[in-house]
Amino acid sequence: MVTDSQPAALHPETVAIHGRRHTEHAHGALAAPLFQTSTFSFHNAAEGAERFAGGGSGYVYTRLGNPTVRELEERLAALEGAEDAVAFASGMGAVSAALLASLKAGDHLITSRCLYGCTHTLIDETLAGFGIAATRLAAITPASLNAALRPESRVLYLETPVNPTLEVVDIAPLAAIAHRRGLTVIVDNTFMTPLLQQPLACGADLVVHSATKFLNGHGDVIAGAVCGDRERLEALRHGPLKTVGAVLDPFAAWLILRGLKTLALRVARHQDNAGRLAAWLRRRPEVSQVTWPGFDDHPAAALRSRQMQGGGALLTFELHGGYDAAVRFLDRLELCRLAVSLGDAETLVEHPASMTHATYGAEALAAAGISPGLIRLAAGLEHPADLIADLEQALAASGADRPGRRAA
Ligand code: PLP
Repeated sequence: MVTDSQPAALHPETVAIHGRRHTEHAHGALAAPLFQTSTFSFHNAAEGAERFAGGGSGYVYTRLGNPTVRELEERLAALEGAEDAVAFASGMGAVSAALLASLKAGDHLITSRCLYGCTHTLIDETLAGFGIAATRLAAITPASLNAALRPESRVLYLETPVNPTLEVVDIAPLAAIAHRRGLTVIVDNTFMTPLLQQPLACGADLVVHSATKFLNGHGDVIAGAVCGDRERLEALRHGPLKTVGAVLDPFAAWLILRGLKTLALRVARHQDNAGRLAAWLRRRPEVSQVTWPGFDDHPAAALRSRQMQGGGALLTFELHGGYDAAVRFLDRLELCRLAVSLGDAETLVEHPASMTHATYGAEALAAAGISPGLIRLAAGLEHPADLIADLEQALAASGADRPGRRAA
C-alpha cells in the first residue's frame, strides 16, 4: 500500500493506480470500498459530540466527509503533487468554491477574457453581484498583469490551455508577480490533467478540475476537485463545501477512482488521436484554420515544452464558409458525437459560440476571440482512421471546399 510518505518516489502513471489509499481494503480487495451512506452512527453521545467538535478520526455525515470520497481526494492530491484535495459535485462546484473561499465583497480578481462559459458567467454575473470586481485581459502577460493589479486584487485565475481558444498561458512568471502582491493563483487544469501539466509545480496555489472529463474518462459522472495546500483546503472544506454543499456522491467518487486506473493510457491515446486529426485537418482544402497546442508552430510551442507534456486532446478548426459550413459539417457527423464535454472515450465535437460559450453574447464572444464558425473537437479513443473517415464525409457535405486555400 502506498502511504503518504511514499508517493513522491512513484511515477504519476503508478500513482493513478495505487496511491494513496485512505481506507483499509478489506479482504484484499483491489477496488476501493464504496461507502454509499449519507450518515455515520456514533457509539455514544460523547463520541458524537467529539466528532462535531472536530475531534477523533471518525466520520459524521457525507456532506462533511466520506471515506470513498476521501480516497479519491487522496489520489488526486498525490497526482497533482498537492498536500490535499477536496472533491466536489461538479467542476463548477470546485471553481466556485475555490473563488468563494479566496474572495470577499470589495475584492478584485484578474483573469483572461476567454474562459469556459460557466466560469465566465460566475465571474461576470454571480461574483459581480456580490461586489467582487474582475479585470478580464485579452492576453495575460507579465506586463498586462502588472497593469491590471489594484490594491484590492486578491486572485489571479487562469485556464491553460484556454477553453476554447487553446491559448497557452505561462503560469510561472505570472504566479511570481501575483505572489509578490499577495494574490492567490488558481489554475483550471481540466484540459491537461496532472499527467500533462502540474500547475502547483509552476507556482499556482490551487488547481481546479472538472473531474467529469479526463479524470473519470467514461462520460458517466459529473464531478470536480480542488487541489492545494492543507490550510487553504481546510478553509474550503469547512466553508464553501460544507455550507454551499456541492458535495460529491460516493458512487461518483468510486467511478472516478476506477477511471483513474487507466488515466495514463487514455490520455496518451487521446493526445495521439488529437495530433493525428489536427495534422489531417490542416491538409484539407475545406479547412481554413486549425489550432492544436501540440503543433510545432503553435505560438506557445517553446512554452509547451517547459510547462506541458504535449498538446493535449483538444483542437479547434474553422471551415471556409464560416458558420453555415460549420453547421452543415456538425449535422453530418456520424461516428463523432455532436456533444459538449471532453475526455470521454467517444470523440466529441461542439460549436462553442452556440453551446459551451453561448452565455457570452455576440460582443463578448468576439472580444474573447471565439468566432461564429469555430468548431471544438475533443479527441476520443477510437481508431484514428475511423475518425478521419467520419470527418471526411462530413467535410464533403459541408460545402466548404475552396481548393487552393490551405491552413494558416
Ligand atoms: N472548467 C473547464 C475548463 C470546463 O471545460 C468545464 C466544463 O466543461 C468546467 C470547468 C466545469 O465542469 P463541470 O461541467 O464538471 O461542472
